[in-house]
Amino acid sequence: MNGTNRRPLLWWAVWACCCGTAAANITVRELPSGRTGTLPAVMRGGELLVALPPLFERLGFKWRWDDPAQQLTCVRNARQYVFTQDIQYYFCDNALFPLPAPVLRIGASLYLPMKAFLAIYKGVNGPKLRWDAASKALTINKSSYSVASVACEKKQNGVLVTVELADSLPFDYTYYYPNVTLNFFGATVDTAQVRSGRRIGFVDSLFGVQFNESAQVSLLVTREIEEPQIDYLQDLRTVLVSLRPKRSSAEGKRVSGSSNDVVSAGIRTIVVDPGHGGKDPGAIGPDGTFEKDITFTIALRLRDLLRKKSGIRVFLTREADDFVTLADRTKMANERNADLFVSIHVNAMPGSQKIKETTKGYKVYFLSQAKNEEDKLVAMRENAVIELEDKPQHYNALKNVLIDLAGNEYLRESQDLSILLDQQFELSLHKKIPRLQLGIGQANFWVLNGAYMPSILIETGFISNQSDEKILIDKSFQKDMANAIFEAVMNFKKKFETGL
Ligand SMILES: [Zn+2]
Repeated sequence: MNGTNRRPLLWWAVWACCCGTAAANITVRELPSGRTGTLPAVMRGGELLVALPPLFERLGFKWRWDDPAQQLTCVRNARQYVFTQDIQYYFCDNALFPLPAPVLRIGASLYLPMKAFLAIYKGVNGPKLRWDAASKALTINKSSYSVASVACEKKQNGVLVTVELADSLPFDYTYYYPNVTLNFFGATVDTAQVRSGRRIGFVDSLFGVQFNESAQVSLLVTREIEEPQIDYLQDLRTVLVSLRPKRSSAEGKRVSGSSNDVVSAGIRTIVVDPGHGGKDPGAIGPDGTFEKDITFTIALRLRDLLRKKSGIRVFLTREADDFVTLADRTKMANERNADLFVSIHVNAMPGSQKIKETTKGYKVYFLSQAKNEEDKLVAMRENAVIELEDKPQHYNALKNVLIDLAGNEYLRESQDLSILLDQQFELSLHKKIPRLQLGIGQANFWVLNGAYMPSILIETGFISNQSDEKILIDKSFQKDMANAIFEAVMNFKKKFETGL
């Protein structure tokens, strides 16, 4: 037995750094109080190890150190966890469970890989945790309400409202000056906690209201704002609402004037983007159809139509079954000085057979922050391809909030084109394929991000739906789809070139 290690266990003691071990604190934020702090942790062999006693203490456990036995016992709500120094097992209520690594004594504390701790904690009926490995940040949600906390922060060009949820929840919002209202369905809100009369930027006050079947968060703003922009963190449990002041009418005119000038110069070049390709098949249908094949055929037909019947120059982002990164697709459109970017995709619905059977139809999207969970999920699925990219670009949705959106001067044109497409589809395709009953969508599609021109993304139907899949692989449908896009593009061209 190692005598030097047989000291009392004191987690607040300063530990001696062993070889290959570097201190790396974890930042902790507790909800609903918003209190912050740090937890001792170390990096060792590329793995983050966390000191167990202070972490368990934060989570409301009582702990004791048995020095002769070299055992740490943590108890909460009659549940007991026992960790033994240098041993790769732990006890939970006297049952033995394996650990991925032995419990390590470093300095005066016992350490476990954070990953292993999170796996163990899954079985605990305690505060909900959210772990962000990249920033080593742990959120401990002690609230029993589904809307745990709402915080406002003043930013350079607006106010960012952060809503922390115990779980992902469907919601919507309304804005009628001076009220911004967020409605979370099936949710509960701690009305004593979610309440602030302190003015932050142009947000005068906020309060929570509990209804029978929903929870509402109401904000009062002191000046008119643009439509609120919604985004989520990756786990869908944090909703970010960006509020930006409305541009003065002089600014508004200047902006729309300048972007109209760009478009009214004419639609001379268009880049058509067949989604996916190469090692990325996109979504796969129940009969084995690949999204990449459908998008490619429709794109080819659209290209041929444009070449034959319009004076518009057309480029495809891929000429064959090749893998092209999302960033390269828009880069090409920028380099070609394209006046329009049209990305073609096929949607897929995850989930039960019943959901797959009932979800069908086309939908047109433009780039913005998602306004509802469905649109956000479609964007997340389409964005997932970056995992296949050799050198994944640094796509960070959060960084764009309140930054990029303010500069999206093509938003209106993209929205106009989406409407024309939707109308054309309704007119010429509705007998073959329905419209997804959610209207036109907006979400943060990476493939549209960074395109300096009006740009839209078409989900031509649901490959996960057996009847849609049959329609989607039908040659005459693909021809009709290409035709409908062509007609809408021509209408868009006419509308802007004549300044109507
Ligand atoms: Zn796709």
